[in-house]
Amino acid sequence: MAGILSAIKLREAGFDDFTVYEKADRLGGTWRENTYPGIACDVPSHLYSYSFAPNPEWSHRFSPGSEIQAYFEEVADRCGVTPRIRFGSEVGRVAFSGGRWQLETKDGGRDEVDALIAATGVLHHPNIPSIEGLDRFGGALFHSARWDHAVKLDGRRVGIVGTGSTAVQIVSALVDRVAKLSLFQRTAQWIMPQENPPYSEAERAAFRRRPELLRSAYAELGSLFHAFSGGLVDADSPEMKAIERACRANLEQSVRDPMLREKLRPSYRAACKRLVMSPNFYESIQKPNAELVTDGIERVEADGVRTRDGRLHELDVLVLATGFRVDRFVRPMQVIGREGRSLDAVWSRRPSAYLSICVPGFPNFFMLNGPNGPVGNFSLIEVAELQLGYAMKLIELLRSGRCREISPSAEATARFEAERSEAARRTIWASGCRSWYLDDRGVPMSWPWTFDRFRDEMSAPKLEAFELR
Ligand SMILES: Cc1cc2nc3c(=O)[nH]c(=O)nc-3n(C[C@H](O)[C@H](O)[C@H](O)COP(=O)(O)OP(=O)(O)OC[C@H]3O[C@@H](n4cnc5c(N)ncnc54)[C@H](O)[C@@H]3O)c2cc1C
Repeated sequence: MAGILSAIKLREAGFDDFTVYEKADRLGGTWRENTYPGIACDVPSHLYSYSFAPNPEWSHRFSPGSEIQAYFEEVADRCGVTPRIRFGSEVGRVAFSGGRWQLETKDGGRDEVDALIAATGVLHHPNIPSIEGLDRFGGALFHSARWDHAVKLDGRRVGIVGTGSTAVQIVSALVDRVAKLSLFQRTAQWIMPQENPPYSEAERAAFRRRPELLRSAYAELGSLFHAFSGGLVDADSPEMKAIERACRANLEQSVRDPMLREKLRPSYRAACKRLVMSPNFYESIQKPNAELVTDGIERVEADGVRTRDGRLHELDVLVLATGFRVDRFVRPMQVIGREGRSLDAVWSRRPSAYLSICVPGFPNFFMLNGPNGPVGNFSLIEVAELQLGYAMKLIELLRSGRCREISPSAEATARFEAERSEAARRTIWASGCRSWYLDDRGVPMSWPWTFDRFRDEMSAPKLEAFELR
């Protein structure tokens, strides 16, 4: 998504000497790799689209992953980006030397560039939990982002570890196909009710005929989500209270068995973890062949999962819906800045960046969806578009000859990070739960202010925060 976006916008701005490096043999990133049953976006499709490439053809309010993948392929083809992608080319090392970035790919390729945009993703490196005996499982075992479509699921016993958005989507998609579905829950999740109606042919035809309808859908959904962001960053806001009420009512009204209801009731506030949305998770987990397992996992054995109460849950297939290593960003790529300093060393405690885009000592290096940016049920496409707009204004300074190297000052970055961490402690994400939003100190790794403030900040770089050489 972010790499295609960069190529389109660079070209529009008249930059023609660029290359997109992609380690896989197909574009799509997240949507190429996540093909599990039930995968869909949980931001409405008309918002989870590039602002400049609205799509009248979305089939549902929240469209399936395969459609999103097809959308990115179609936009990349239409905008002439696909031929500019060097597929099967993993960037292994980039080093700033002699005023330019020296780039090396794992297959021995080399390049020298003035500026680098890291569009390497956030939810990209699967997180494999350290559960004893995982390697001894006799059935099929895979992470949700590495779904093995050769494995038969119908009529079999399937276990799913994890209860985030992915697990919830998989449960709803599989429960009617499998003989037995066991969901291993470490932490209960609040579930926001979600309706996912299809768009009728008449509605799609209207979108095709009248592009202004698409533009207003994008704008209206955007305002709704931006207002929601105001709630997230103020844990006591009326928006937060409304979300909590909706989640609680969903649980109370949808789950009949009081014991199951209590097992599904989180002990923390709604939206403290990334809010899970589902039209039918509660209905699915109440089916007779579904079981919510809340006794912790002791170990995995050849025949299944042994929980701490001593019970063996016999399984044919075990799916790890255990998320991603969200502290990786451009890594494992080696990034070497001025004076031979590696990004890995700079980030040895935890990743950080000025406005989540650039790092002191790493000139002309710009990240999209980098550390501590807006997360939490936004469209990351919108986030990347704003960040790219900001980076392009800095790249423009290089092109115009105003400077040859640009990077944020250490002082501005430290000040930003201190203010950010302070504000992050007041958000809903810090209201008392364990989640992938939290860093090693328990501070949310996110933009802690409103989306409007983010947009304002992205509208024009404050050059006093930068060192220009
Ligand atoms: C299951 C799932 C559901 C999601 N749902 C939503 C949603 O509803 N709404 C939302 O806003 N976001 C959602 N996201 C987040 C999603 O990751 C982003 O929306 C978006 O797709 C990220 O795009 P990206 O281009 O930044 O990164 P990615 O899609 O991760 O793409 C990064 C690309 O860079 C390549 N790459 C990485 N390192 C290198 C290297 N060293 N050399 C060469 N190539 C490299 C990768 O192969 C990949 O193709 C979801 C994520 C997941 C996993």
